[in-house]
Formats: sequence, structure tokens, C-alpha cells
Amino acid sequence: MSHKVLILGAGFGGLELSSLLDNELGDEVEITLIDKNSGFVFGFSKFDLMLGQATLPEVVLSYSDMTKPGVNFRQETITAIDPANRAVTTDSNSYEADTVVVALGAEFDIAATPGFAESGHEFYSVPGAIAVKDVLADYKSGSLVIGILGQPFKCPPAPCEAAILLDEWFEQRGLRSDIDITLVSQWKVPIPPSPDGSKAIVEKFAERNINYITEQIITSLDPATSTANFKDGGSISYDLFLGIPVHRVPEVVRQSGLSENGWVPVDHTNLATKFPGVYAVGDVTSAPTPKAGVFAESAAAAVAEHLVAQIRGAGDPRPFDGQGACYVEFGDKMVGRMNANFFPGTKPTAPFTQPSREIAIEKADFVTERRRRWLGS
Ligand SMILES: Cc1cc2nc3c(=O)[nH]c(=O)nc-3n(C[C@H](O)[C@H](O)[C@H](O)COP(=O)(O)OP(=O)(O)OC[C@H]3O[C@@H](n4cnc5c(N)ncnc54)[C@H](O)[C@@H]3O)c2cc1C
Repeated sequence: MSHKVLILGAGFGGLELSSLLDNELGDEVEITLIDKNSGFVFGFSKFDLMLGQATLPEVVLSYSDMTKPGVNFRQETITAIDPANRAVTTDSNSYEADTVVVALGAEFDIAATPGFAESGHEFYSVPGAIAVKDVLADYKSGSLVIGILGQPFKCPPAPCEAAILLDEWFEQRGLRSDIDITLVSQWKVPIPPSPDGSKAIVEKFAERNINYITEQIITSLDPATSTANFKDGGSISYDLFLGIPVHRVPEVVRQSGLSENGWVPVDHTNLATKFPGVYAVGDVTSAPTPKAGVFAESAAAAVAEHLVAQIRGAGDPRPFDGQGACYVEFGDKMVGRMNANFFPGTKPTAPFTQPSREIAIEKADFVTERRRRWLGS
């Protein structure tokens, strides 16, 4: 009988894992991949949606395009996870498996920031990015503030990229001189493990007249006065507020007993949870890597190697390497790259390669390659 693997969530981590296990194990494994959505959207595609540079059908990877007979995709919403029994309930089915991998990502807690729902906007979700597109279309002047509302959050360079891309977008429309752009960040520098990448971003901010307030986190908005309040006192006024919402594990994960202190703890070598046969990868975990797709992918690779060795009873799986190449948009179709290394137990590093059109092409190839690898089409 083949080994049953149930993968919860068909995002960066779940898609990578299903494709690796299918390629490596074929008939030796029965893979079921569950997601509530009909397709996957890369995080960075939300910039394209927000700026009206692409429509949703242009950026979505539809699961219906999957041509992998070894992967049984089910579009269902997971309503309960029983990790002790490796049993999962959805809105239309129930499942049991030899191995369960939780790859359900992070969701947003808009209500955690008082005033945000009433007077701010977010571009981190697909509906949020699409809604911001309409807001931007009507925005002609004033103070635009981009603020980070909690830690950890997905893709640490993304708020900086948003500031740079918005600067360019307003410039192209002849509106930039009437708009102040400010980024409020909790860190001293844009990307702490990457001094060179941080320097390049700060130089870009200076060149493009983007205000950069450091070591401040925004805890509430006052809709009556259009003021964002800092945790340590002080505030900033805004006409348009774009916030990076507080993140949390999906409710179904919280209720399962898998999470502790907000996230799912995992063994840093093989991403195993405390429940036998249950693993977790990506944003849902408290692994010592940033919340980014490339680390969900390297975690999935570690789980895949581990499972292949376990199922075959042979092999020497490598531990999770905590590595990933992060692309950073610099405007003018230029993209830089940070080769981040968050190997558990070592000091994180992220050497930076200066922005170029070549790296922009490499980023486009990254998308094409994943579409082929994950969907087979
Ligand atoms: C603006 C922006 C820019 C970004 N840029 C980059 C970048 O350049 N590089 C990079 O590596 N990362 C980037 N990211 C981060 C990246 O998108 C995430 O870190 C990554 O998608 C996490 O992968 P994951 O597999 O953990 O979760 P996800 O990809 O979020 O997948 C989780 C899946 O679980 C599904 N799900 C959740 N709950 C349920 C449920 N109850 N039932 C069924 N299905 C469920 C969801 O539908 C989703 O498909 C960016 C993110 C944003 C917002």
C-alpha cells in the first residue's frame, strides 16, 4: 500500500512539496493537496494588482491547470486538524494520512490595530491589493504613509519595494510632487541581515525623496484625526495609510493545538512538529527564517528529502538549509537580489547583488519555472 501524504495548503510550500514528492516517489506515495482557493498568487504579484499593471487572471496559477496525475488536488476549506490522529476535516470531506504537512501560511488580523479597518488599507491580500488599486486611482495629493503594524510579517523587503514602486507610479502620472511618501519601519535599516542591500534601499529612498522613519512601530490609527500612533509615543498624519497588517496563524491551526506563542514550533532540521508524522512548512511556523516564499520552498525541500528517506528506509537527508534568493524591486524595471542564509543556529547573512535588468529577467524566469514545476503545464 502506498504512503498517504496530506498537504494542507497549496501555496509556496505546499506546491513545492507536492511537486518534489510526486517527482521523486511517483506511485510509492498517494498525495492529496487541499486548498480553499482555486489558484495561487505569488506575493509579489500583489504589487502588479495594486498598481493596475496586471489583472488577477493574468497572475493567478490556477490549480485546474495542474497536469500532475500523482497529485490529487481538492478545492476545500479545512475546518479542523487533529494532529494526534493525523486526521483532517474539510467543508466537504474527512481525511486520514500517514503524513500530514501543514502549509497554511499566515492570515491577517486587521482588528488587532484599532482604527485600521476604518481608515487604512492593506495590499498584502489579493482582495486588498485590488481594492487599493481603486483607492490609488482617486488619490492625487497629500501624505501617503506606509506603516508596519506588527512582527513578524511576510517578505521583509516588501514595504520598501511598495514605497519605491508607488514613487515611480505617481511620478509617471505627474502627481509625485504633490504627494509625500513615508515609510515607517520598526528596524534601524531596511533589511538587517543585508548591510549592502539596506544601503542600496536607503540611497534609493534619498534619491527619490521617500521619507524613512526607523525604529517605530504603529499600534493604532485615529480615523477622526487621520493620525497613526507609534508604540513609543509620537505619531504621523496621513491622507492615505497603507498598512502591513498584524499576521497570525489561520484560526484552524490555532484551534488544532499545533501552535505555541502564535506560530507552529518545528524541529529546525526536518520541520517536524511535536506530533509524530505531522510537519509544518512556511509562514505558519516559527522556524528561524523570515516569512517568505523562498524559505517555505527550502523547508518543503527538507521535508521532501526526509520523507523520501523515511518511506524508502534509505538515504541521508540534508537538514533544512534556511536559504533563499529574495528579489527586491528598485523601480525602472530593475531588480536586486539578496542571497539570504538563515541556517538555523548561525548569524543570518544576505549578500546583495545590485539591481539590474538581468535580475529582473531572472525573477520572471523564477515565476515561469515554478509554474512549470508545480503545475506541470
Ligand atoms: C506584497 C508581498 C510581496 C512578497 N514578495 C515575496 C518575494 O519577492 N519573495 C518571496 O519569497 N516571498 C514573497 N512574499 C511572501 C510570500 O508570498 C509568502 O511568504 C509565501 O506565500 C508563504 O508560503 P506558504 O506556503 O507558507 O503560505 P501561502 O503561500 O500563503 O499558502 C497558504 C495556502 O493555504 C491556504 N489556506 C489557508 N487556510 C486554509 C484553509 N482553512 N483551508 C484551505 N486552505 C487554506 C491558502 O489559500 C493558501 O493558498 C511576498 C508577500 C507579499 C504580501
